Amino acid sequence: MPRPLSATIHLDSMRHNLARARGCAPDAKVWAVVKANAYGHGLERGLRGFADADGLALIETENAVRLRELGWTKPIMLLEGFFEAADIPLLPEYNFNSAIHCIEQIKMLEYTRLTSPIDVHLKMNTGMNRLGFMPTEYAAAHARLRAIPGIRNITLMTHFANADELEHPLLTVREQVRRFQIGAEGLAGERSLSNSGGVLQQAELAAELSNDWVRPGVMLYGGTPGVRTADDYKLRPTMTLASAVIGIQQLVAGDTVGYGSRFQAAGPTTVGVVACGYADGYPRHAPHGTPVLVDGVRTSLIGRVSMDMMTVDLAPIPNARVGSTVVLWGDGLPIDEVATAAGTIGYELMCALAPRVRVHEGPMGQPA
Ligand SMILES: *Cc1c(COP(=O)(O)O)cnc(C)c1O
Repeated sequence: MPRPLSATIHLDSMRHNLARARGCAPDAKVWAVVKANAYGHGLERGLRGFADADGLALIETENAVRLRELGWTKPIMLLEGFFEAADIPLLPEYNFNSAIHCIEQIKMLEYTRLTSPIDVHLKMNTGMNRLGFMPTEYAAAHARLRAIPGIRNITLMTHFANADELEHPLLTVREQVRRFQIGAEGLAGERSLSNSGGVLQQAELAAELSNDWVRPGVMLYGGTPGVRTADDYKLRPTMTLASAVIGIQQLVAGDTVGYGSRFQAAGPTTVGVVACGYADGYPRHAPHGTPVLVDGVRTSLIGRVSMDMMTVDLAPIPNARVGSTVVLWGDGLPIDEVATAAGTIGYELMCALAPRVRVHEGPMGQPA
């Protein structure tokens, strides 16, 4: 009998969420973002779940090569581009699109003979202040790139800092779009601006924001970048992390649970011990009260999460026993809700799924 913990990946939900992204931005082609092992879901599952996407986008060059080896023939985009000149030959060889975000990358291209033409995405820094050329430098970078033999299409690209919060007090999407339009004035080429946040707000931003390509990530995995819920956007969970109760303890008033004795019972308390801990990717800092489902009933974490186990309050589930099913997140318990309780975001939880967790595929409604 293997340990009862496993993650079920719902490929049908991945397809559904991709269709939702298309529905939100019907005029744009879609890069499905599969960086970080498809947000913890497995690169190969990303390829199959998003087979209908117009392209796959990621960060890691070796995984981009793997996508080709797995048979992906549509476009592939490197979201941070190449990291050193030695990687440039991979671009024509595997037909990768590359982001170009700094002058050093342009210089490396100038000194490299491209064996066949490549498409690139010139990134503008419109306020995110991570990667990209300032709006004032953008046209010059574009001209310099244009002059390099073998550069075919140049897509104009930027990235939003606060697409989940339309009225952000410091930097709004509208302001970033305004800066983008100034920097890109008069330049030909397709436009690529929106991440999940931008895609989900497309209806509100219709007057200002248009994309030829969008780059949704987290929404394809049933997470949202902001305050509204997956349900609000009709997104479905794509990963259910489920385990079982492996032990039960009856406490009396004054008894404590686990390391640091962080939970102390005020009265008789039934504690379920669940096979899932921080070495599985469950956040150790999740506090008392973080939601958990036992036999489909909502209850909460008590005490400190340890390496291989955590403890939950069985009061709402009087019939719970050793073997009762526990859902940590996913089907019936949105990952964003667990993340919020733990002071983080759904992205981090899905990406942190640990290698020792068994992963399989299946539809919702059948926890492992
Ligand atoms: C990760 C990433 C995305 C996807 O972001 P989400 O918030 O997950 O939708 C889009 N564009 C770039 C450049 C990225 O690095």
